[in-house]
Amino acid sequence: MSVTPVLEADVLRRQDPELAEILLGELTRQSTTLQLIAAENFTSPAVLAALGSPLANKYAEGYPGARHHGGCEIVDVAERVAVDRAKALFGAEHANVQSHSGSSAVLAAYAALLRPGDTVLALGLPYGGHLTHGSPANFSGRWFDFVGYGVDAETGLIDYDQVRALARTHRPKAIVCGSIAYPRHIDYALFREVADEVGAYLVADAAHPIGLVAGGAAPNPVPYADVVCATTHKVLRGPRGGMLLCGRELAERVDRAVFPFTQGGAQMNTIAAKAVAFGEAATPAFTAYAHQVVANARVLAAGLEAEGLVVTTGGTDTHLITVDPMPLGVDGRTARGRLAAAGVVLDCCALPHGEARGLRLGTAAVTTQGMGEVEMARIGALLAGVLREKVESRRARDEVRDLVGGFLPYPG
Ligand SMILES: *Cc1c(COP(=O)(O)O)cnc(C)c1O
Repeated sequence: MSVTPVLEADVLRRQDPELAEILLGELTRQSTTLQLIAAENFTSPAVLAALGSPLANKYAEGYPGARHHGGCEIVDVAERVAVDRAKALFGAEHANVQSHSGSSAVLAAYAALLRPGDTVLALGLPYGGHLTHGSPANFSGRWFDFVGYGVDAETGLIDYDQVRALARTHRPKAIVCGSIAYPRHIDYALFREVADEVGAYLVADAAHPIGLVAGGAAPNPVPYADVVCATTHKVLRGPRGGMLLCGRELAERVDRAVFPFTQGGAQMNTIAAKAVAFGEAATPAFTAYAHQVVANARVLAAGLEAEGLVVTTGGTDTHLITVDPMPLGVDGRTARGRLAAAGVVLDCCALPHGEARGLRLGTAAVTTQGMGEVEMARIGALLAGVLREKVESRRARDEVRDLVGGFLPYPG
């Protein structure tokens, strides 16, 4: 397997050694440190090949069969394949695969369903809501009136009673479910029930779990939500990008909300790469992958708990784990720094209780590398050793190198 045709062909190295060096430096970083960022993954060489293909040259405003540019007959086929594969994979009546990112997909969902000033109920940012769920620094907080629900301070689980109570009080135009840090399955049926009770649209922002949905390892929001927003680059393992899934009645509104309302020309190389990723996600190998991702996360969560860290909600149903490292004497920020020095890459996150920050980690990338439960146990012990300063960072770095050296993301 080669990394990309470009790197293989050495074209870039000859023409622009400065950039070639940077690209290879990043490849080395990804291959020699431990990638535990919950939102990241390693795309396949086939996905990278589609991304680096001449489809990157094509302008294609509009939709297949109705473009504002000539010469779209080939890319039209690519987009139709991507749409058909997405519909089949998630059991959706309609798919829009043009969103440039997860945030763009959420923006389009709001544009399709809401008017500025409408009230929206979403998980509060301190509990794991995304910036697009009402942050004052984001268009969502500026243009809509967001009301936040929370999680139970003790259990870390979504407070569904509060969701219902807030919905009854505020009568939102839309309810958003989905999070950047929630490790458990979301009860989409219950959200649907509340949305129906108050006459709200239900928007599922499944940016994180959509890959698990594709592999049958998490519940599918498509039958419950009016619009599902997602990314294609997290557990789903495709190119960086977004997509929307919905029923037939909202298809046209969603399409218009993407183009021409919030975006211009579609990125046809990315759309082709999304098609490749959907094709991969429809295989039994991906189903096995998705289940292994969850099995790995459970072992890692149990390992961290056994080492004394507090695991939010006491475990995980997904690829995602959030922990409070305070019992080991470090806050999240210090912990992230110590781990970075040891070659372990992960994020900080908010915790359901109090002010202190925690750590968020995920198993999508390491599972793609081929790691299993044995490696997860080793990683849990390693992390705890580094946080307790029982292992000095140079020795930890060597152990990380040794571990990932056996599971190169792009062998050769
Ligand atoms: C990752 C994520 C997004 C945004 O995705 P981008 O591609 O970074 O814009 C939106 N919502 C949720 C819940 C996410 O986890």
